[in-house]
This record gives sequence, structure tokens and C-alpha cells, in this order.
Amino acid sequence: MKDTALRIADFKDSIFGVISRLAREHNAVNLGQGFPDFDGPNWLKDIAYKKMQEGHNQYAPFPGTPNLRQEISNYYKKFYSLNYHPDSEITVTVGATEAIYLVIMGLINPGDEVVVLEPFYDSYVASIKMAGGIAVPVTMHAPDFTIDQKELEAAVSPRTKLLILNNPHNPTGKVWTKEELVAVSNVAIKNDLYLLSDEVYEFLVFDGAKHLPTATLEGMMDRTITVSSAGKTFGLTGWKIGWICANQKVTNACRLVHQYVTFSVSTPMQEAVAEGLKQLPDYLPGFVSLYKEKRDWFYKEMKLLGFDFPIPKGTYFMMVPLLKHTNLKDVDYALKLITEKKVATVPPSAFYLKSAEGEKYLRFCFAKKEETLKSAIENLKGL
Ligand code: PMP
Ligand code: GLN
Repeated sequence: MKDTALRIADFKDSIFGVISRLAREHNAVNLGQGFPDFDGPNWLKDIAYKKMQEGHNQYAPFPGTPNLRQEISNYYKKFYSLNYHPDSEITVTVGATEAIYLVIMGLINPGDEVVVLEPFYDSYVASIKMAGGIAVPVTMHAPDFTIDQKELEAAVSPRTKLLILNNPHNPTGKVWTKEELVAVSNVAIKNDLYLLSDEVYEFLVFDGAKHLPTATLEGMMDRTITVSSAGKTFGLTGWKIGWICANQKVTNACRLVHQYVTFSVSTPMQEAVAEGLKQLPDYLPGFVSLYKEKRDWFYKEMKLLGFDFPIPKGTYFMMVPLLKHTNLKDVDYALKLITEKKVATVPPSAFYLKSAEGEKYLRFCFAKKEETLKSAIENLKGL
């Protein structure tokens, strides 16, 4: 048999798949892969079932159902005063993962450079490689995961086309300040780059903070490509409904790729998410307080175990420093916790290309039932 394609030659099983498999094999409590181990709202599941019964079961229009694109447009307007035209500036995708892939495949030529801020969500670099592009990492330095402006500017070359930012940030739980976002945006403006803003955790911000979409910053509407996902907002990661909001030219490029990758997205699920988005103002306060309660409880317990770190302001992840507990690197310590303590976490070095800073941390996901979090803490006692 001939070899498989060079573009995937250095691809391995993703860290999420590896950790979830090890967690199953060792019967460990899984705080690794980022998904809730409880279901999303019943009212929304009922709506999905109703949409199927009502006959929304054939192919959807390939950019997304008109209802869903309209509701996406409505919420960007209502929450952020952003105007995206449902017909020409919004595309529905199979989760944010497809959205990221479409943007990168639609924009990046072989040899083009893409600046990624590390730690990064792993699909960015995989998609860049599939497009033949080159990922250029800039490290968000611990403990506050801040960018050194000089390092960022130095990473941009005449071949740079795109910069990728994730806010609120997986895996650190960081919510970027306006000043930080403006500093990154200014580099995009100065160098005439597109900025892919991955905002899948837009509604998971705590302590009264409000999400600030990059597209709202001065000079950024046209060059920002915003990606989000219903999977996080409704705690239904398996529904895989995501979207891209971008100018008409980028939207066209993404749609051209989309029509040959997935062609269209599950019709009844799109129709249900459209109804879900209408309910956001009523739904969000309960959603945020549920996750805040989990964050606060888990943070308090981790502190009692001797882990010392700033409380994350967003997402459902905690990036926990290991220094006080071990000299082991993240991968070895993660394996030790799975086998000896029966707790699975994600070693963040998988999210870095350049820096070794990730080796000193583990990522814990707290989007779990009370009993799951409690048994993880019980297992970790005596570390
Ligand atoms: N971006 C980030 C930062 C994520 O954490 C995830 C998944 N957890 C995604 C994108 C992909 O989202 P989806 O499940 O909608 O494909
Ligand atoms: N985004 C989720 C995480 O960060 C996992 C999604 C996946 O398994 N690719 O854990």
C-alpha cells in the first residue's frame, strides 16, 4: 500500500482522545476532555425532538438554515451591537472545529504564516498544517498568561496573513482585558492581517465580567472573523453547531470550502439552536451561576490541597501549576494521577509549539457533576 498524505505525517491522536481513553482504561474520574458530564437543558432537547417531528429532516441550505442565521445575527446585535447580515456574513458549521478549518483553508496558501498565541486549542495548528501554512507561536507568559508586545510584533513577517486569538481562553481560563485585546488588534491593523477570534466560551465569564468581542474594537469589524459554538453555551457539545461571522469576502471563501467538506449541517439541530438563541436572556443567568458555583467549589478544594493559582475568570478550565507538588513534567504527572490517583487531566504541553511553560501545569475541567468533582477531590487527597 502507498503511504498516506504528507500533510498528516506528523499527526497523532489528539491529547483529548488519548486522555479520555486512558481515563476509561484506568477507571479514572475524567476532568480531562472539556465537556460537561451532565446534559444540557431539557427544554432545548424537547424543541429538537419537536423540530424532527415537524419535518425539519432533509438537507439544510448549505450556509445554514435561515432561522438560525437570523437568530445568530439577532444575538450579536442584541448583546454586542454588532451587525452581521444573515445572508452574506454568517455561516453555520459543524461546531467551531469546522469553522476554524474553513477559515484557515479559505484564507491560507501554502507557505503563508499564521500567528498563534500559545497555549492554543490544538485544531488551529492541525488546520494550518493541512492548508500547507506555517504556525508561528507567540507565548502567553505565565503566571498571568500575558503577551510580550515585542515578541508578538517580531512574530509577524511579510508572509503573515492571519492571527488567531481565543477569548475567553482555553486552557488558561483567562479573560482578556480590553487593553490586551487592543494591543493584539493593533498588530493586526498595522500589518493588515485578518484576526480569527475564537469566542466559543463567550458566555462563560464570571464575577460580573462581560465578554468583549474582538470585532467591537475600533478598526476591527472588517478584519475580525468571529467563531462561536452552541456546544459550550447550551452544554450540548455533541450537537456540534457552530458558526462564523465575517465580512462577505471571507464568508464566501469559507462557504466554498464548507460546500465540499460537510456541505450542510444537521437541520433539526440548527432549528433547535435557533430557538435556544432566542431564549438566551432568560437562560444565561442560570447557566453562568451553575458553572460559577462549580468553579468556586473546585477552586476552594484545590487550594485546600495546596495548589495555589489565580482563579480563572472564564471558560470551564483551570490551569493548575504543579511546582509545589512535583518535579515531574506535565505528561508524566498526568499519567501518575491517572494510574495512581484515578483522576484524568490534560497535560498542556500539547498546546505549545515553542515554550516549555506548559510542562509545569495541568488543565482541569470543572464542567462536571457535583459528585464527579467530589470524587476527583477525594482521590487527589494525600497528594
Ligand atoms: N475552540 C476552543 C477554544 C475549544 O475549546 C473548542 C472545543 N472545546 C472548540 C473551539 C471546538 O468547538 P466545537 O466543539 O464546537 O467544535
Ligand atoms: N475543546 C475540548 C477541550 O478543550 C475538547 C474537544 C475535543 O475533544 N477536540 O477539551
